[in-house]
Amino acid sequence: MARRFEEVISALEYSELMRFKADLDSGAAAIKKNLEESIKKRLKEHEKTCATCSSSLNFYKTSNYTLIFGPDDFRKKASFCGLDCMEYFISRLKASRAKSSEDNISNTRIE
Ligand SMILES: [Zn+2]
Repeated sequence: MARRFEEVISALEYSELMRFKADLDSGAAAIKKNLEESIKKRLKEHEKTCATCSSSLNFYKTSNYTLIFGPDDFRKKASFCGLDCMEYFISRLKASRAKSSEDNISNTRIE
């Protein structure tokens, strides 16, 4: 991620770099707004690959599904090539949720 960010920075013109720095120095309000808008836009798109079987998603297929989950400030997104893959993902999610709540109970148990 850091490398890609460096590439983005190095692709900017000098005047854009200066605007970027001035915004950062004054609290980064424009950058924050820009990032939030990009995240909002991306949330509406399917991912490029299926989260279960890793096959590439054909964007014109009507059997694509995308789940958005997690708290507002840490949204996660997973796309699927069909209902079977989404079902499998949800069953794994349920199993890991059940396991972590068991762990929490055993962690809070008084010896
Ligand atoms: Zn799949």
